[in-house]
Amino acid sequence: MPLSSYSIPPERLAAARRSFAAIVGAQNLFFDAEDQDSYSDAFAVDDSRHRPAGAIAPDTVEQIQAIVRVAAEHRIPLWPISRGKNLGYGGSAPVLEGSVILDLSRMKKIEYDEENGTVLLEPGVGFYDLYDFLKARGLKHWLSTPGNSWGSVIGNALDRGVGYTPYGEHTTKLCGMEVVLADGTLVRTGMGALTGSPTWQLYRFGFGPAWDQMFVQSNLGIVTKAGLWLMPEPESLMGMDLEFDRPEDLGPLIDAIAPLRREGVLQQSPTIGNWLRAAAILTTRAEWTDQKGALSDTVIAAIRKKFQMGWWGVSLRLYGRETINREAYAILESEMNKLKPLSMKRTSWKRGEPLEMTGWTGTPLTFPMQNANWHGGLGGHIGFSPVLPQSGSAAMEQFRRTYQRYQEFGMDYQASFAFGERHLINVNAILLDKDDPDMMRRVDPFIRTLVADAKAHGYGEYRTHLDYMDLVASTYDFNGGALGKLNAKVKAALDPFGIIAPGKSGIGTVSSKTKDRA
Ligand code: ADP
Repeated sequence: MPLSSYSIPPERLAAARRSFAAIVGAQNLFFDAEDQDSYSDAFAVDDSRHRPAGAIAPDTVEQIQAIVRVAAEHRIPLWPISRGKNLGYGGSAPVLEGSVILDLSRMKKIEYDEENGTVLLEPGVGFYDLYDFLKARGLKHWLSTPGNSWGSVIGNALDRGVGYTPYGEHTTKLCGMEVVLADGTLVRTGMGALTGSPTWQLYRFGFGPAWDQMFVQSNLGIVTKAGLWLMPEPESLMGMDLEFDRPEDLGPLIDAIAPLRREGVLQQSPTIGNWLRAAAILTTRAEWTDQKGALSDTVIAAIRKKFQMGWWGVSLRLYGRETINREAYAILESEMNKLKPLSMKRTSWKRGEPLEMTGWTGTPLTFPMQNANWHGGLGGHIGFSPVLPQSGSAAMEQFRRTYQRYQEFGMDYQASFAFGERHLINVNAILLDKDDPDMMRRVDPFIRTLVADAKAHGYGEYRTHLDYMDLVASTYDFNGGALGKLNAKVKAALDPFGIIAPGKSGIGTVSSKTKDRA
């Protein structure tokens, strides 16, 4: 039975704290009740379940190496974060209550290879930091930013976050890492393993097995640097914002976009979103209704009217040479017109013109976080995001099933279908009202039902909140859970005392060796 909390014996914690203070200085130790609050997950259904013992904030690799050695000696579970803004998935909080947060947000070095369009980043570099850095150098390369860009570039890529430009699948743009292992060893992956190589950020694989993805959504090491490819500033950006009237327009829309994406006419991954996306950010629920339960069709119609939205909307964008974009635009226009959209709004930009500040131009944003305030009062959100094939009928079935569950559990439906190159991710947000105990009681059974529904169709989540990591890992069950067993074996080999992020992605909670240390 995996442990969900672990109380470090006080004398062991005190000894470790003395050693930690000698490594990072007492001013970089945060163990007050207030610190424990601020590193907890305010969006969790129950914040207290993931309360850390405290936090330490090193700023060099040598300090991190020394910290893991102390942690191993005293059996202290560490939870590494980059900037800890992974809201909806746990924020800065650990799976295991009582862990010590390893806060890397002070490590903010950026190395920029302008010629090759790559950066080598430390974990504390935020999207705003990197944007400011590139802007000060003429924005010759664009970022890809997630909907909430408050966090770090590396932390987001390590949790497989996504953005909206052709470089939007962030984890696939990682190239070469530096990692501290649980025994304190420092490793460089890919070409970085070859001392002094100028190709660390250029060729992902190196020689032999390639390990970068081993440190993604994992607890097998602490990433202290990562390389990332950036998109060269395009000559032109062209595209269209489309609205579609009916729920059943989703299927044909997916079937129309998927081949364009596979063929490469579209190089960016569009996201199809429903009517709540603007209302949840720009208004609160009380402005629309005082009725509990899922929003009625009348309210949905009022929201759509006010924001001139369809049931679904999507934005398509083309990046690169203007002549190519023009031709590609004509193809998109003709394919989209066949679907009879409610509206089609053209956008275009040329190098030198003022840039719109949106995710399409890789501008960091935080306003989408406003959706946590949809219910007013103490808010939050949690996601349910299964991976689907790019099939209109599969997506329609998934949508119908999920929408019905939202109504059954009395929740407001906010969903999107986000394209990848070959897959779709159906991101469903559950907007929380933490002041409504009745609603909060429904959240856990709701998510468990959604996970079971998806599993019954062979779908699993791509990312999940701390509370559901074991559950989601258990759905990856081929051959008696052989993948989970492989993960556990690798974890035990690299981190026998379970020091690094026990429980992350359902891998390795506190081992008996940790608990039973004499
Ligand atoms: P962000 O800074 O973008 O908000 P987080 O710091 O919250 O991202 O990181 C998201 C998750 O990724 C964390 O909960 C942790 O599990 C993992 N993670 C973040 N940074 C590191 C790192 N440097 N090494 C290993 N894992 C990390």
